[in-house]
Amino acid sequence: MLSLLNSLNPAQREAVTAPPGHTLVLAGAGSGKTKVLIHRIAWLLATGKAHPHNILAVTFTNKAANEMRARLDSLLQSAVPGPWIGTFHGLAHRLLRIHWQAANLPQSFQVLDSDDQLRTIKRVLKFLELSEDIYVPSDMQHFINTRKDQGLRARELVVEGETRFMKMLDIYLAYENICQRTGLVDFAELLLRSYELLRDNQELREYYQQRFTFLLVDEFQDTNTLQYQWLRVLAGGHGNVFVVFDDDQLIYSWRGSRMENIQNFSHDFPHRNLFRLEQNYRSTGTILAAANALIAHNTGRLGKTLWTQSDAGRPVHLYHAYNELEEAEFVTAKIQDWSGPFRDLAILYRTSAQSRVFEEALLRKQIPYRIYGGLRFYERAEIKDVMAYLRLILRRENDGAFERIINTPRRGIGEKTVELVRSMAKTQHLSLWTAAGVLIEGGDIKAKAKSSLAKFLQQIEQLAQHIQPLPLHQQIESVKRASGLIEHYGKEGPEEAQRRLENLDELVAAAREFEKGQPDDNSLLSEFLAHAALESGEGQASEFDDCVQLMTLHAAKGLEFSTVFLCGLEEGLFPHQNSLLDSVKLEEERRLCYVGITRARHFLSLCYSDSRYRYGARLPARPSRFIQEIPVELIEEVRFRGKFSPFKKRY
Ligand code: ATP
Ligand code: MG
Repeated sequence: MLSLLNSLNPAQREAVTAPPGHTLVLAGAGSGKTKVLIHRIAWLLATGKAHPHNILAVTFTNKAANEMRARLDSLLQSAVPGPWIGTFHGLAHRLLRIHWQAANLPQSFQVLDSDDQLRTIKRVLKFLELSEDIYVPSDMQHFINTRKDQGLRARELVVEGETRFMKMLDIYLAYENICQRTGLVDFAELLLRSYELLRDNQELREYYQQRFTFLLVDEFQDTNTLQYQWLRVLAGGHGNVFVVFDDDQLIYSWRGSRMENIQNFSHDFPHRNLFRLEQNYRSTGTILAAANALIAHNTGRLGKTLWTQSDAGRPVHLYHAYNELEEAEFVTAKIQDWSGPFRDLAILYRTSAQSRVFEEALLRKQIPYRIYGGLRFYERAEIKDVMAYLRLILRRENDGAFERIINTPRRGIGEKTVELVRSMAKTQHLSLWTAAGVLIEGGDIKAKAKSSLAKFLQQIEQLAQHIQPLPLHQQIESVKRASGLIEHYGKEGPEEAQRRLENLDELVAAAREFEKGQPDDNSLLSEFLAHAALESGEGQASEFDDCVQLMTLHAAKGLEFSTVFLCGLEEGLFPHQNSLLDSVKLEEERRLCYVGITRARHFLSLCYSDSRYRYGARLPARPSRFIQEIPVELIEEVRFRGKFSPFKKRY
């Protein structure tokens, strides 16, 4: 037991061994919050205060959840099955898979990712005969998701209001209906549906409340209203809730995270233990001083003093680039000089679009890298196509999947025919699949179109039968071949075709990985599809390879790297354009910068550039105010040894 606590300082140890009751740990970046949370679980288990199945722990990303499981196993020196550890969405999904019936869902319900959701919304707009120009689909998506994140159903919203708002409610309602009818569940719905399940089903609620007596939440500052309610209903009157948070790292208010949740916590979960951790173990003195100075410009903080025993270390480097290409040249040249493992290096940026230039520079220099977020594996067109076949095979009512592949690859089903199917579906309230069947049976449709349509339906039926007995990876391999997608992509340029085919091979490999350790039953395909929707962005094969890590600042939360290159520090980019005139948003940008700086352990490099290609034009840029907020004595301006001109000539 003692050895479990050995690596903790006194304040951390107190938090880890806190008596039962709700517990709050308020602490700054790198002070060991995540470490404490994991040790708390290990300690509860090792001392017999809790059974593994009494534990539910929530983290922010799938990557963090995997790490937490691995660290727990290593602390306890054995694999511990039983605790539920995951993201809010992952855990909600798990609940719905178990209790699909009680949640009023079909057993094979499918998780809609953001792109599929957008398509579904577009279909709703068509159905309601509303213009996409006036009711912009991505705005409607935001509208729906924000309401769901607040726990609000369309039918619960006001019935009177201005016309546009009323129309938006119609869209929300129609979207809910279509999802319910076809067994589709978007990300926000996962949470809302499982919350309603627990709230409304007394038996289940009591079961889980009695089961999960210890609930732990990392990065509590970024929980939104619904996640908070979800936690509350699960904790009931018995659960011991243990949360760790840092108000200076709240960076998701655009997705509904609320500072008030921290105040609400004290109100809703009384008799708490409160701990503060003030020693930072992650960064050098200089990096910590830079972070502290920056965040001191924010108002209304809860206030913490972070200190470190570490040496000052190297100064923060500041590089002034000519343009974004030169910025990337500088960063990658520094990386080439690096002698340690690549995975200790991170390139962080404000917007995902910034990754491309770095990607190209890294490729040119043959430096391995991995992008978290950005264009994700499961979001690539070829992957989505194969997935759409699988989704349709699993559920013929999946209209999104039907639309995606009805003429991919081309099979002579034109837009006119598709329109006929759509309008039949609309007037008869049918799924597209059933509507197509009705049209074939005797609809007003040309013979040629009828035969193409019939062939398509037949092909799906045959494929479904054929793959049914196969193991998962062979199911995918079969669909890949029988669908004609390989030939279809083969018609593209050789490089593009190759890339796509490699990705498809990768999908089969991912399925093979997924099969490992899973019982071989019929639900594996639907599990895999859900996994793909949830994991998008984190399923790349190179995760375990030694490579430079590229990600947006939002995705970097909770992580740490030896060296961090924080790039694009320019007014209008970081802080972002949308925040320049709004002091509340500006403070969130500053917190984001604080998150970025505090990811670095030994060395931090800041970059900004004189101009940048944005919005389709080369625009001049000014250095970010955040640079000026870092005391000048901590900074050393650096020159690029290998200064060169080819890039300059291009502009
Ligand atoms: P963030 O706010 O970024 O999420 P955090 O507060 O969760 O940070 P951790 O990631 O838990 O901090 O810890 C930061 C680093 O400090 C880790 O490398 C961790 O192993 C190390 N660390 C934490 N506490 C101690 C300690 N008592 N002794 C040695 N190292 C420690
Ligand atoms: Mg942490």
